[in-house]
Amino acid sequence: MMEAGPDDSDAIVLFGATGDLAKRKLFPALHRLAEQDRLPSTVVGIGRSAWDVGTLREHARAMLPTDTELQRRAADRLAASLRYVQGGYHDRATYEGLVAALEGHRRPLLYLAVPPSVFETVVAGLADVGLHEHGRVVLEKPFGRDLASARELNRCVLRRFDESQVFRIDHFLGKEEVLDLLVLRFANVFLEPVWNRQYIDHVQITLAEDYGVEGRGGFYDEVGAIRDVVQNHLLQLLTLVAMEPPTSSDAGALRDERSKVLRAMPPLEPAQVVRGQVAGYRDEPGVAADSQVETFVALRAQIESWRWAGVPFFIRAGKNLPVTATEILVEFARPPRLFFAREDAPAPHPNHLLFRVKPGERLAMGVQLKQPGDELFSREVELAYRYDERHEGVRDDAYARLLGDAVAGDQRLFARADSVEEAWRIVAPVLDQASPVEVYPAGSWGPVGAADLLDGHGAWHDPRPDGP
Ligand code: NDP
Repeated sequence: MMEAGPDDSDAIVLFGATGDLAKRKLFPALHRLAEQDRLPSTVVGIGRSAWDVGTLREHARAMLPTDTELQRRAADRLAASLRYVQGGYHDRATYEGLVAALEGHRRPLLYLAVPPSVFETVVAGLADVGLHEHGRVVLEKPFGRDLASARELNRCVLRRFDESQVFRIDHFLGKEEVLDLLVLRFANVFLEPVWNRQYIDHVQITLAEDYGVEGRGGFYDEVGAIRDVVQNHLLQLLTLVAMEPPTSSDAGALRDERSKVLRAMPPLEPAQVVRGQVAGYRDEPGVAADSQVETFVALRAQIESWRWAGVPFFIRAGKNLPVTATEILVEFARPPRLFFAREDAPAPHPNHLLFRVKPGERLAMGVQLKQPGDELFSREVELAYRYDERHEGVRDDAYARLLGDAVAGDQRLFARADSVEEAWRIVAPVLDQASPVEVYPAGSWGPVGAADLLDGHGAWHDPRPDGP
């Protein structure tokens, strides 16, 4: 059980408490904090909806598991901590109502689970009543929709809050398997000598979804795959693969290293990007009949650093693909032929390291072993560690981890202003209609052109449905 620290937030405020994110992720995360005895005594929900605290309690309880005594007690604690303030975000009375609900609390965590269009209004409203002085603010994705809007939002937030009070969520950074990548890289010595351009041929990062926009066409048609998952989640994953060892365990050191990776990346060129749109997307409700928005993207990125110069980082994300899976594959250099085998022996495969982020979380290493039989031929074998089997009951949902970190003021797993802006700088030249959108059939791995990006580096490693 973790203990509350002296700098922990003493209350949590959920703007958008009536919304989808609060329901599916934030109430379960608060429940988890209650289970760990880390839930502040007061949680204030805010919304325009004409709810009262009873409605909010019922709404929250419906989302909470109550199988065990611990879970039931945590649900009771969370329900008892809830308050509700009703009001519009342009209305000073809403913020005054919040100040009243927070009486006796000094350091609230202010979670903006509202549409990004109201972020700036809420930040200004909070500062008007002085809640910026000791509060911490959590901002959901998306953080801007391009470099200019991200800069503007940073300016707006940082006029009122210090960077040390700002927590920009990227929930990928809270995933157990993603964090394990950091430990694997920096708690083992055997990788470091080969983790560079001499031994690594390329890196592939794939985020595949076997479903489409699922009724959210109106939202998606304003966004597309690059904004939705590449600028944020996948570039953040890339920084964890590529970063140098941080000089200390503090948030600044870790965030410096992630930021340095992004700073070393040149802006993407349209020729390095293949955008696809799944057949039938334009018939979705809310989608423009002539939409050029990509539901698939594949790209080739570079990091111009001593460690990585010349090693391509291939990123691919898409909807309506054959499986739902997120993976990072590090492919090592191709070995020379098997010198002690016959002349016509098949060339050995390159080794790989595979991080399966979800589902079927696992870490696997592709090695060459002898093919059974008379010949000295090699075959690829995967040595795998499966998280499902080992982490039963220990793993937290990313939101629970990140909410706990924000309550404790730990910024290590949150995006800093500079890295958000750097990521927008990298994708800026390929946003919107920078390259044509190619139609691909649902259930395929996207436009055929995506394969050409790998020129000279083998083929895409298509994730399998679940596990090895
Ligand atoms: P919702 O659309 O469900 O909105 C949340 C709440 O905000 C609503 O219940 C509503 O409450 C209020 N709201 C809605 N529209 C407006 C508006 N135009 N002006 C003021 N208030 C409004 O959003 P989500 O819960 O889905 O998302 C919240 C935030 O989290 C967003 O920034 C989103 O991008 C981000 N996010 C969401 C994810 C998800 O899975 N849902 C995943 C990742 C990020 P009321 O009417 O009571 O005021």
